[in-house]
Amino acid sequence: MTHCGGDSERLRKIRRNDDVKACVLKTAQMAGKLVLALNLGSVLRVLRFGPGDFRNRLREVFELSNPFECRSDVTAMVGTYCTGQGIEVGPADHPYCDPANTVFVDKFERARKGLTVRKIENAWQLPFADNQFDFLLSSHCLEHCPDAIRTLIEWRRVVRPGGRLVVILPHALRMFDCGRALTTLAHHIEDYRRGVQLDDPTHWEEFERVSIPAQHHYWLDFPEAHLSDGRINRKWVYENGCMHYHVWRTQEMIELFRHLGFRILFSQDKTGQRPDSFAVVAEVDKK
Ligand SMILES: [Zn+2]
Repeated sequence: MTHCGGDSERLRKIRRNDDVKACVLKTAQMAGKLVLALNLGSVLRVLRFGPGDFRNRLREVFELSNPFECRSDVTAMVGTYCTGQGIEVGPADHPYCDPANTVFVDKFERARKGLTVRKIENAWQLPFADNQFDFLLSSHCLEHCPDAIRTLIEWRRVVRPGGRLVVILPHALRMFDCGRALTTLAHHIEDYRRGVQLDDPTHWEEFERVSIPAQHHYWLDFPEAHLSDGRINRKWVYENGCMHYHVWRTQEMIELFRHLGFRILFSQDKTGQRPDSFAVVAEVDKK
């Protein structure tokens, strides 16, 4: 009994010590995240965007400071940056923007019930005038475009100078593309120079070798996705938007934006509503 009692006391001590260590670790994590969130850029953004956005910014800071989960979400980002009149490209059945101030366009008819969506030929061919919108948001669309630079130039065209471009994209290390080479800026420049199209074969080998076997993709169940000899119908995959041409982390996307003359306003390496994703917000500069 005594022996057991001694053990229990020791276990209680160990547990207390562990609790203290965990508490210190959580406090340190919280402090670290607060320091990161309250950087000079955030302060400047708060001063610049005024009281309404100040509330959003504060909410982001507090959500970022939660060590248990990352909840700083797309909703807060939309509330801050998707103001005025805008466009959302490729919302599918989960739009992020408010229909009251947003035009929705999509190549595919997978829209949420009740949402009015204008059909477009491709994400890099928008049937709108130059400088028509205050913002453009696109989630999980750019990776399906063979020429990222051409697409971003088109998106910039329809947004006024000083407007915002908001992209949410799959993170290279947190989804089925994990294991593919990160797409470099030089690669994008070369794609743009060559004017690559949907059926460009350059990207297929890696997609078929790494991305397809990584999980059971819903589209593999469609008979049209396969040829009679059992191979995957590459043309069908291209045309139905199932292909991921390029693979990025936040830093590669920021580099691409900067190359095209955008000014980075905000980035988030892990979005709350899509933990497999990152987000970058950039200001359109046409000088
Ligand atoms: Zn490419």
